[in-house]
Amino acid sequence: MRFIRSILVFTFAALILPSVSANASQDPGTSLPDDKKGHQIQVVYVETQSSTGSKYHTNGRVKQWIAEIQSWLKTKSGKELIFDTHQGQLDIAYLKYEGNIYMENDEDLVRMYQKFNPTNYLGKNLAFIIDQKLSTQGDICGWAPIDGGYSVSMPNWLNCTNDDEEERVFAVETFGLSSSAETILHEILHSYGVGHACDSTTTSDLMHGEPECAAAGIAFNDSEKLTFDKSGLNYYGGNKAGVDLKTLRIWSDGSGNTEFAVPEELQFVPPVTTTTTTTTVAPTKKTINCKKGKISKKITAKNPKCPKGFKKKAR
Ligand SMILES: [Zn+2]
Repeated sequence: MRFIRSILVFTFAALILPSVSANASQDPGTSLPDDKKGHQIQVVYVETQSSTGSKYHTNGRVKQWIAEIQSWLKTKSGKELIFDTHQGQLDIAYLKYEGNIYMENDEDLVRMYQKFNPTNYLGKNLAFIIDQKLSTQGDICGWAPIDGGYSVSMPNWLNCTNDDEEERVFAVETFGLSSSAETILHEILHSYGVGHACDSTTTSDLMHGEPECAAAGIAFNDSEKLTFDKSGLNYYGGNKAGVDLKTLRIWSDGSGNTEFAVPEELQFVPPVTTTTTTTTVAPTKKTINCKKGKISKKITAKNPKCPKGFKKKAR
């Protein structure tokens, strides 16, 4: 769970902003053909009943947040995560949910995605980014089951996004990541099995979280740049917070030994595997010729029988 990080925005010089191109890869629930095989993170943009119409999936915002995440990780670890792309562009699947999403019903989204993508959801970690105004969970911006293979981020909840581009750029320069990108990455790491990391060296860490850190008497230092397991003991180089991400095969450089798999209890839709190495032999079908007077019929089946009144014609 990611709590709101309050940001005091002081006067700062307007920065020259990179142009944001619209992302065309929008499609109804279905992943576009994948550039890569194997494990990857599928970003799924969801509009719910109380959507604000912010269209972050098509106006370039989602793409920008993922780019922020990748470049921040690269400076911290030298690695990048694997995101689902189609023809080199981030593939953002789109879902429209009729109600609103809460912690209690978030698995509905996993179900919906699997229904649309029965042949290729197995290797995927799902990052749901949800356009929803209605908030019922208090001061949080996202959540994810630990090791659950999916995460939820709510950028349209109060104070969860740096609203305009100046604010976003300011946050990136000051902390390393904008609020939304920070939430998305924090939740994705939960979904890979990382819990909250609290020790005296991690007061501005990406994986700082409550209630664990408050219980340990460690307050979040929101004036410093975000750190990515500075001690190397918690989740990158060590596993005190649950898992050592370095050992997981989730990085674009192909490193890591441990496969991350979608938990079986979350496979709601029986996975359809496209078999390329089929060894089972299809039942042999036979064709017989059947005749009734002048009419003849060919019947093909495993055990072909002539229709009533027809007689099997000898070869
Ligand atoms: Zn958390």
